[in-house]
Parts: sequence; C-alpha cells; structure tokens
Amino acid sequence: MSVDPNTPVLRNCIHLPLPEDELIEVTGKAKDYAIMHGAAMRSKTSFSPDSLNFAPFVLVPSSFPRKEFEKAVGLQPIINRLMHNVAHDEEFITTTLAETIKVDEFTANLFNIYRKVLAHGFTQAYSIGLLRSDYLGHVYEGCAIKQVEINTVASSFGGIATHLVQLQNFVLRELGHADKLPKMPNNNALAGLCDGMVKAWDIYAKPQAVILFIIEDVSYNICDQRFHEFYIRETYPHIKVLRRTLTDVHREGKLGLNKELLLSGLEVAVIYFRAGYEPGHYHSQDEWDARYLMETSLAIKCPSIQYHLAGTKKVQQALAQPAVLERFINDPDEIKAVGKIFTGLYSLDDNDAGNATYEMALRTPEKFVLKPQREGGGNNVYGLDIPDALKRMSRVERSGWILMDLIHPPLTKGYMVRPGAEMPPTIVDMVSELGIFGVVIGDADHIIHNYQAGHMLRTKLATANEGGVAAGLGALDSPYLIDSDDEDEN
Ligand code: ADP
Ligand code: MG
Repeated sequence: MSVDPNTPVLRNCIHLPLPEDELIEVTGKAKDYAIMHGAAMRSKTSFSPDSLNFAPFVLVPSSFPRKEFEKAVGLQPIINRLMHNVAHDEEFITTTLAETIKVDEFTANLFNIYRKVLAHGFTQAYSIGLLRSDYLGHVYEGCAIKQVEINTVASSFGGIATHLVQLQNFVLRELGHADKLPKMPNNNALAGLCDGMVKAWDIYAKPQAVILFIIEDVSYNICDQRFHEFYIRETYPHIKVLRRTLTDVHREGKLGLNKELLLSGLEVAVIYFRAGYEPGHYHSQDEWDARYLMETSLAIKCPSIQYHLAGTKKVQQALAQPAVLERFINDPDEIKAVGKIFTGLYSLDDNDAGNATYEMALRTPEKFVLKPQREGGGNNVYGLDIPDALKRMSRVERSGWILMDLIHPPLTKGYMVRPGAEMPPTIVDMVSELGIFGVVIGDADHIIHNYQAGHMLRTKLATANEGGVAAGLGALDSPYLIDSDDEDEN
C-alpha cells in the first residue's frame, strides 16, 4: 500500500534518531528485557516448545492523541452493553446473517450450533465477553478514532500489552527521559480480563470446578495465554486452569447429569476460547461436535455462540446502518457517541443495496477494504485489488463479504525491533491501532459486570495493509498520550 505523502506525522515522544551506539546498546537491553519479562512468542520459523523469541516491539512508545484515547476508554462500557444486547437479540442475529450463511460455510457452521442451542434452550443463561474494540485514528477527521472491528472471541495481547508498558518505561529511563513516563497510561488489561473470568467462575459457584482454555494445536502466542493462566493461579490459588484443544475435548469431554462439562474427571465452570475462531481450528466434524458439546453444557462460555456470532464482520456492518443502534442503546447521547466511531460499512448481500455497493467498489476501489467473515488477520482485500476479487465472485458469493471505508491513520516515526532483523534498527514510518479491552457478564435480562479493562497498541509499517504481530509486519507498542497544545519535542 502506498502512503499519501501529505499524511500528518504525530509529534514523537522523544527526539529521533538516537546516536548509533546508544541505539545499539538500548536495543540489546530492551530485547533481553522483553524475553525476560515475557514479551515473547514461540518462533514460527524455528519452532521449539522449549524456547522463546522476543515479540516484535516498538522501542519508544508511539504517540496517540490523548483525547481520542480517553474517548475510546470511556466508550467501552457502552460498547460492552451494545454487544451484550446484540448477542441476545435472536431476531437481529438471524436476519443479519441470513444471506451470509448461505455462502460462508464457517459462519453457517457456527450458526447451526446457535440454532440447535436455541431449539433446546440455553443450559447456561450467563455469558462472559472479553472484548477488544480496535481503532485507527482518521486524519480527515482530526485523527478522530474509527472502529476497525470488535473482537468477541480470543481477544489477544492483554497479557503481553501489560508488560510492554514496563519495557518501554525501562527504555525511556535508559535514554534519560524518565520525565515522559507520566504520559504513558497504566495498563491493567491482564488483571481486568482474568478477574472477569474469575467473576464468571464465582457465578458458577462450585469450589472444585476449573477454568478451561481452548487452545490451538500449537500456540505461538504462548506467553499471552500463559500470563492469563499464571495470573489466575497466583491471584486465586484455589482455581485450576486446564488447557485443551477442540480435538482433546472431543476425545475426553462429556456431560454429567446436570449437563456439567466433565474433562479428566474435573468439572468445568468457565470455558475461555483462544481457538475455534477460524476454519483451520476444526480439522473434522469431531471439533464441531466438541464445540457443540461445550455450547450445550452448563459451563459459562467466553464467548458463548451468540457472542461469537455478534462479533462477525457482517453484524458490525449491520450495526453501522442508520437507526440500528437505537434498537440496542436507549440513551440518545450514547447513540451519537457510538455512531461517530463507525466509518462507512456496506452490505454486499444479493439485493439492490448490495448491488449498489458492488458498483461503488468497482468505481472507486481505492476508498475501501473488502472483508470476509474471518478473524486473525490476512483475510482482507485492499483498494485496487478489490475489483478483481469481486468480479471472481458470483452475486450470491458476495454476501459472504462486507465493504468498509478505508481509514487513513496518521503516521508516527520510530524503531521497530524484531527477532532476526538487522541491527541497529532504522527509523520507519508506522501507524498504530489501539485496542480497548472490555469485560461484560450477564444473561439475557441483566448485565451484572461491565467494565473497561486496559488496552493494547499494535503498530505496523505504514506501507503494510495489516499489522499482524505474529505475521511479521506488526509490533507491540503502547501509547504515549499527546495533547494538541503540547510543546513540540523536535
Ligand atoms: P481481523 O479480524 O483479521 O483482525 P480486521 O478487520 O481487524 O480483521 O482487519 C485486519 C487489519 O486490517 C486491521 O488490523 C487493520 O490494520 C487493517 N484494516 C482493517 N479495516 C481497515 C480499514 N477500514 N481501514 C484501514 N485499515 C483497515
Ligand atoms: Mg483485527
């Protein structure tokens, strides 16, 4: 992706470039700090379960407008409530996904589970959502945040993000800029998310019951998951965490007399899905059967199937249509505030509106992103690639996708540090995506816990369409909050 040369550059936290010897020294220290504090991942290229690489990170925190950060934080409880209400609106989910599930097999499989669970009645009335709402600033609206997506399943990096603040604090101190630390907001994402799981465990009210993490066959982002597991054991010594794949659950899992989920002789109170959000996690019908077994069980799911479906791109697109928010939010000021973070999202369903979107995308593809119903990065089609992609689809196939306005974020300049890369790093143009975590617990009629739970910042090369950290174009970061009336640092 080319970057418009007129894109504004946010003021840096400190003056760059750093003198080369200082840069080499501090980068070396920061890499070891990262490994030793778990800002780390398993290597994909030379995988070993016995070793870790540091996770790609940005050396000095990237600037983010304070006003927009605080807006995102303040909105999170409203977004939590919105998603909770959406998840419990059977009619809305069913009509919104009606066209999508005709062509998208994965979403259809999820929807089938939902339909079966609905038919038999929910065994467990409570759900827990550990959400992450992601934003980019939009330069054409004064860097106002626009929502990229909302994650309701496997919202990751709450564990590592918490430690990134300490890593960058360390770097700033080493560089003689301790005065900058107060502008880095505290981040208690790990505690907030895990305490949420334990609140759900409390609702289940069985002292012997465990928390089950559903994991991939191989977990590259292992530290992020382990931080959650270790935090729970350290803070709540009486609670055990089990880790199992969907395949394991199919092999070992069964339901007890009261539909309690039993695994290795243990009863499961809470299921936290860190896998199960992409087709590759379901190798055969066995894994789908396991998912269904868990959905029909008494365990409290994070997410339950209705929450998972509420997080689809199609539902996000439907929510951004005029007057839809009124169905889920009562307060007009809240409707206005949430409406402002949405950018244009357009249906590609097989009808007049969908056809109009299609024509618009062919006319001005450079303005858009085309998205399927997938999570985990690397699935979207950008700008000038859109017409070819759309023309290859039948009219019906298009309903598996949505179209979204491209958001134009401001640039920052900094050093990205990644394993195996040349030393010292060079200054690159970057853009940052802010994620705000939220916790919401309740049943169809009541929300009993609803709070914002920390944040994460993921920064990518400005020229990259996507910044998947594991995929190699993104890096972990944390925000340095700038005010419009700050003195210029440079
Ligand atoms: P996924 O579920 O795969 O994470 P996203 O919707 O978050 O899907 O898209 C992946 C990445 O693509 C985002 O992190 C962001 O970098 C980029 N992206 C997505 N939507 C937009 C958009 N509307 N404008 C600009 N970049 C976008
Ligand atoms: Mg995303």
